[in-house]
Amino acid sequence: MTTVNTVLGPIDSAKLGVTLAHEHILSSNAGIPQNFPEFLEDNYMDHIVEGLNKSKAAGIQTVVDATTVDLGRDVRVLAEASRRTGVNIIACTGWWTEKPRFISGASPERMASGFIKDVEKGIEGTDIKAGVLKSASDMTGVLPAEETVLRAVARAHHRTGLSIMLHSYSPGQVGRRQIAILKEEGVPMNRVKLDHSNDTTDLEYLFWILDQGCFLGLDRYPGEVPSPTQRNKTLKALIDAGFAGRLCISHDWSLARHVAIDSPIGTPERRQKMNPHGYLYIKNVVFPQLKEMGVSQRVIDSLLVDGPRNFFEGKV
Ligand SMILES: [Zn+2]
Repeated sequence: MTTVNTVLGPIDSAKLGVTLAHEHILSSNAGIPQNFPEFLEDNYMDHIVEGLNKSKAAGIQTVVDATTVDLGRDVRVLAEASRRTGVNIIACTGWWTEKPRFISGASPERMASGFIKDVEKGIEGTDIKAGVLKSASDMTGVLPAEETVLRAVARAHHRTGLSIMLHSYSPGQVGRRQIAILKEEGVPMNRVKLDHSNDTTDLEYLFWILDQGCFLGLDRYPGEVPSPTQRNKTLKALIDAGFAGRLCISHDWSLARHVAIDSPIGTPERRQKMNPHGYLYIKNVVFPQLKEMGVSQRVIDSLLVDGPRNFFEGKV
């Protein structure tokens, strides 16, 4: 049995059920929800509760919140959202790509001590514990500060036993370097998930990641480039190759965020147009399409259950 920390306490991994493995409940920047809630969408808590209630009514049981401190994580908001809706929420610790100056000069050991505290004692002075570790690199490759965080996350894994999710830039195959560093740190690859892997259509690269023993996060839906249709083709090819149990499908969608009037992707209107289904795009749109493409109902029903559970258990 594997126990997973949710924001309301530990649960058995067998009880995670239908799980979205990479979403955001509320995303902004470090300290914003706590200091400047006026920068967030009006009534953001109502948007969050409404989005989670709709998801729950459609069968979603668990959401992994991939929001690190630099993305504006607020575990009190996560706990209230879980309490009010009954959806399990798993918080993460680690860091995304917005690094403060001190990280480059900090040791991985020092950084790891903070992440370990988030898992063993609790986040932000609460007793809410992180259930997954996260590190990030994007199109510029693994920058020095990101390598520090990645090695810190590896060391936090050795201490806590938690699985690791990696924000990665799959079109640039940045996962190759992230995996190499984690291997140097002695992390078992069956505890690692390469996220945003459906931002590429390069199956050779994706099969290489699976050959290493890792999980794949196909967690950008609907997305724009590649198109949703191309993402479905990639998903189908991986299912046909027998890897359904190592895929974590999700949306990377924020139920609420800061108001970013000058950011075209950030306005609520633009987001609504891009994906009116929110957390239910996969269930409402992708699953019927997979069925038409010939994927069996049994496999479709297992997709949001087996991959996430196996990821938390390290079962490949
Ligand atoms: Zn994300």
